[in-house]
Amino acid sequence: MLKGKKAVVTGSTSGIGLAIAQELARQGADLVINGFGDADAIERERAGLEKDFGIKAVYLNADLMDEQAARDFIAQSSQALGGIDILVNNAGIQHTDLIEDFPVDKWNAIIALNLSAVFHCSAAALPGMKRQKFGRIINIASAHGLVASANKSAYVAAKHGVVGLTKVTALENAGTGVTCNAICPGWVRTPLVEKQIQAIAQQKGLSIEDAARELLAEKQPSLEFVTPQQLGQAAVFIASDAAAQMTGTTLSIDGGWTAR
Ligand code: NAD
Repeated sequence: MLKGKKAVVTGSTSGIGLAIAQELARQGADLVINGFGDADAIERERAGLEKDFGIKAVYLNADLMDEQAARDFIAQSSQALGGIDILVNNAGIQHTDLIEDFPVDKWNAIIALNLSAVFHCSAAALPGMKRQKFGRIINIASAHGLVASANKSAYVAAKHGVVGLTKVTALENAGTGVTCNAICPGWVRTPLVEKQIQAIAQQKGLSIEDAARELLAEKQPSLEFVTPQQLGQAAVFIASDAAAQMTGTTLSIDGGWTAR
């Protein structure tokens, strides 16, 4: 379905980004992957994508918290692939604390990566997308882009910002062949959430599995985790021709979290 398309997925060495990269590759897209981690493990992932799906996969190491590095990353990605058709802004981090206790460096880091990097990467990718009259910008927001939870001020502010930025990007580019949408996942069991499960287990003296059930029960009526693969398949749909008139909107995949 995406043969010949060129896709960039930020934060794709782990969790949701990795699954999105795999699902885009399964459909034939060439890829730039990015993120932190063990160099050998990243190389195995990159080579595995090429071997399993017969596509080209390039790894570019960039710290997207840095504004210039984010813009340079998009220029290098475009050079490596010969253009960019699909940009998935996925890289993100979390920290939980009351507002008055929230460390300023954590606030700045979350805003820099979860919100500003989406702006810088989109700004750098849009001119090329407009020139070629095709582009799909897919922002991985969150249920926390639509509703709030206590102790997550920076994350909720950043993700609400991403939803707003998604709408502006869509409006500025309507009719150009470039669309922009946000996927809003509920709980997905990745390293980012595993840390929160461990914190609940520690605070309440629960086993890890009981803590995971408690985490789900508080927010997610399905009582089941969303899988990274389900989100990857949603990204494939947004990248497809079927979604050409879908722009400026949010796609909730959250087991009913935001329905109540
Ligand atoms: P994860 O921790 O498994 O993966 C995060 C990825 O971002 C990793 O590849 C990491 O190396 C990369 N990264 C971290 N800092 C970076 C930086 N400075 N520059 C470049 N890359 C960097 O997390 P995840 O759960 O897969 O989260 C992916 C996205 O999905 C995030 O934006 C997150 O907010 C969002 N999300 C996650 C959930 C969930 O339940 N896990 C729910 C809703 C939204």
